[in-house]
Amino acid sequence: MNRITSPQAIKAVLEVRREHGTPFYFYDTRILHERCEEMLAMPSAYGLTVRYAMKANSNRSILKLIHSYGIKMDASSVNEALRAVMAGVPASDIMLTSQELPVGENLTNLKNLMKNGMKYNVCSLRQLYNIGDFVSEQGFSLSVRMHPGTGSGESATRNTGDKYSCFGVHLSDVDDLNRYAKGKGIAFTEVHVHIGSGGDPAAWKENIDREIDIIDTYFPDATSVSFGGGLKVARMPDEIGAEVRALGDYAARALIAFHDRTGRKLRMEVEPGTYIVAQCGYAVTTCMDTKQTGEDGLNFLITDGGLEINSRPLMYGSRHPFYVFGSDGVLISSEETVSDEFCAAVVGKCCESGDCQTLDSEGRSEARPIGRAEAGDVVCIGGVGAYCSSMTPFNYNSHTQVPEFLYDGTKTKMVRKRQTLEQIVENEI
Ligand SMILES: *Cc1c(COP(=O)(O)O)cnc(C)c1O
Repeated sequence: MNRITSPQAIKAVLEVRREHGTPFYFYDTRILHERCEEMLAMPSAYGLTVRYAMKANSNRSILKLIHSYGIKMDASSVNEALRAVMAGVPASDIMLTSQELPVGENLTNLKNLMKNGMKYNVCSLRQLYNIGDFVSEQGFSLSVRMHPGTGSGESATRNTGDKYSCFGVHLSDVDDLNRYAKGKGIAFTEVHVHIGSGGDPAAWKENIDREIDIIDTYFPDATSVSFGGGLKVARMPDEIGAEVRALGDYAARALIAFHDRTGRKLRMEVEPGTYIVAQCGYAVTTCMDTKQTGEDGLNFLITDGGLEINSRPLMYGSRHPFYVFGSDGVLISSEETVSDEFCAAVVGKCCESGDCQTLDSEGRSEARPIGRAEAGDVVCIGGVGAYCSSMTPFNYNSHTQVPEFLYDGTKTKMVRKRQTLEQIVENEI
């Protein structure tokens, strides 16, 4: 999987660095393609729709590419849905699952998107009341996101299903939900649950059964079920990723059993974000400086890109692999070749002690085995295709948003330019 260390990829990275400087994001579209194919081959009983959760990485070129494989979109806001449309995705290939309550222009945009075929997945009673008359007039149907009561995420901040997070309509509100919808003649043709990001695959499996039971008990009109996203990716060698095929087999068996019991065939939807894009992305930085903090201290590699291009270590305690090579293209270390002869913390250039790619569970910098990089060497951070470019506080310390490149094994293409300082201040009055 790790193709960044192939001589051709190293050469391509160094060429981009020569021309555009660092830091930048570098996406290997071969890995993206493999992940899309794997998701599209997920077993299901009565048809499968894969939706890409576009908040993971919403670059237009990436959206276009993923959509070209036959994958639809899951948008997290009206603006995201509009952004997908701007990338050429028809509204009918988008589902909106959002915490926002659209008002004003946003509500107008939502209605227009729905008229063009976008599916709206209401996530609260108020969202339903907000759109009910319109849906009823237009004769549309809706999807509903249910709160499953239990969830699982890679950290507590990514659990979206337990009582500490408020995504979806809680079961204690389902009677009000159904009474209102019935009064307006609105059918819920799809039921959706998303339990969290990168959680325990066993919890993902349990949710399949729980959600089918919810449909059985409360949603007689449902013809589709969405099991959400959250499929875990193993970024580090000691992590275990979700097994898409096995989860699909389990879901297919559950859907067939449901059909045998009730005569109802449910189409299956899944919404991976991370699973599709995480592994294809690398953040390419240059080691600018090295320091140490005394005899009982740590070695530090100071790079020109840190939390403003990958805040996942600070936000979630995530670990990412590193690939280090010299300006001459000689590989110094990668996750396969690293030895603990030299350990260092990898920090960025923000004035923030949490600007470290190697934080321990307490939030302190931790030295990890890494190649002995010198100033001028390249330090690539792996596994940054998801929730990095789309989520980082990139203007913090007035650093500019960094460019993005797609690499297909032969050619490299710029798909986003570097932001300028003028663009940071352009809206200030
Ligand atoms: C974020 C999100 C996803 C994707 O989660 P991943 O962990 O990136 O797969 C899927 N569905 C919904 C509703 C989401 O909010």
